[in-house]
Amino acid sequence: MIRLRFFALFLIFSAVFFSFSTTEAAPQKTIQSIRYSGRKWVKVNDIANFYGMKVYIKDNTLMLYSRYYKAVFNTKSRAGSFNGVKLHWFFLPFQYKNAYYISEQDFLFLLDPLIRQRSLKGRPVRTIMIDAGHGGKDTGAIGVNKKKEKDITLAIALKLRRKLIKLGYTVWLTRAGDTFPSLDRRVALWKGARPKPDLFISIHCNAAANRTVRGMETFAVTPLNVPSTADKKPVKNAYPGQSFNKYNTLLAYSIQRSLIKNLPYSPDRGVKHARFYVIRNVSCPAVLIETGFVSNWAECTRLSSDVYQDKVATAILRGIINYSARVKK
Ligand SMILES: [Zn+2]
Repeated sequence: MIRLRFFALFLIFSAVFFSFSTTEAAPQKTIQSIRYSGRKWVKVNDIANFYGMKVYIKDNTLMLYSRYYKAVFNTKSRAGSFNGVKLHWFFLPFQYKNAYYISEQDFLFLLDPLIRQRSLKGRPVRTIMIDAGHGGKDTGAIGVNKKKEKDITLAIALKLRRKLIKLGYTVWLTRAGDTFPSLDRRVALWKGARPKPDLFISIHCNAAANRTVRGMETFAVTPLNVPSTADKKPVKNAYPGQSFNKYNTLLAYSIQRSLIKNLPYSPDRGVKHARFYVIRNVSCPAVLIETGFVSNWAECTRLSSDVYQDKVATAILRGIINYSARVKK
């Protein structure tokens, strides 16, 4: 076992610890990590001490909690949660000599930005690019009522733009009508936009062969050396979007949380990771939102209605506002 000292981390964490903690005990000054199967793993009890949290373990559940936060891991499944929002961790936690460990990437890129949200300030949001999925010759998924994904995503994007402009944001669209910018073109639009967009929000609808599948999910780009949610093999390619892993996490979480809070008709499928072209290639925090399944009757009917599209746009807007409040100066 290697004992690593994270002095820099401790300096940052200690302020948080003391403001949360009601105990007299001094925080532990080290976070122990071990190397196992080619990667670093961080001791859960040490993490708990740094944040002033407690650890709860029962059956397959491993939980870190305090008055404010609750992070749930499962030793048999990567599906967990943070403060009640589903979250897919990169790796399963594991036990070694009576102690539990989570991967360094789960700690640094998922857990830490959610617990210390204010550590991400200094990247204020003023300009936002909204990307309505598909368009033109690319219809996207065709709904069970024959509605096309491209029309639903555009309707939500236009409503979201109007709401953001009302609040004073500058807004760019990758398309404003029934056109088909290629994925490359969408990234090129991001690069060429002035002022440069601080966020990139891609809006889509889902579809599955199984018509009972429904729910909403928000994707961030998969960091280097960890697997995407639908995969087991770690990603070995580096992408511009990975420079914002912590911001991507907070943005995806804020939006997913707002979606499930404001649209309770549709289940929470969680924050996930994938390497979708647009979110991996823009150089700013970015997410891709799957607003629901057009292959499911109830969701397709809702997503086809103007009123519900407006509710989706409002839910995304609130997620962006919450994120913005955390990252401003
Ligand atoms: Zn799509």
